[in-house]
Amino acid sequence: MRRKLAAGNWKMNGTKANLAELDAMKSTAETDQTDVLICTPATLLSRAADAVSGSPIAVGGQDCHANASGAHTGDISAAMIKDAGGSHVITGHSERRVDHGETDAVVAAKSEAAYANDLVAVICIGESLEERESGKTLDVVGTQLAGSTPDAATGANTVIAYEPVWAIGTGKVPTLEQIGEVHDFIRETLVERFGDAGNDFRVLYGGSVKPSNASEIFAVSNVDGALVGGASLKANDFNGIIAAL
Ligand code: 13P
Repeated sequence: MRRKLAAGNWKMNGTKANLAELDAMKSTAETDQTDVLICTPATLLSRAADAVSGSPIAVGGQDCHANASGAHTGDISAAMIKDAGGSHVITGHSERRVDHGETDAVVAAKSEAAYANDLVAVICIGESLEERESGKTLDVVGTQLAGSTPDAATGANTVIAYEPVWAIGTGKVPTLEQIGEVHDFIRETLVERFGDAGNDFRVLYGGSVKPSNASEIFAVSNVDGALVGGASLKANDFNGIIAAL
């Protein structure tokens, strides 16, 4: 039985004043059925880890470099995220793929760096609007999943997040049928590659998830939770999403 996961991605938002939001998520996070994760900006990670200590909320990074250390100005390593108190790291978010030209191979290397440092990689995949409209969604998602997921991936060290690029921050959400089609496809692809162990991976949906649409999305087959951007910044919203799981 896969546990549900409510994951937040604060992106480039938040200063220390926002740590109060984490505090206000603690009591909602104390349910038996749901795991809760917030991926803060790197600058907040250590303080966020302190803020949630003693609660079931986990914290993580939004990206890591594939290398262990070295001359990479502005980057952070998986070991640094671990050292700051993180347990997870997002890899291959579409904003990294677009803004920083990250390829599937780069995302796989970053995910391996996560494993080497005992971090869970939250590997993101998803099609653009143009790809969806030209009927290429499953091709694109399949290629990204194959190329971004290392052979060493397991349900314990990896979470897959399906985030259609056109649904991120736009208020546009795929139909439940469209979400189900892609999530079923991801599950089948994982089982083809990893055998029965493919059933252990959690597959999150991301893109304009809000308290008002969370319940119906979470009821779709093979949706094991959500990766939430905007609605994870405020405890009021994110608590509603956790409760919907
Ligand atoms: P929104 O929830 O703001 O659409 O962002 C989704 C996302 O990109 C999470 O990683």
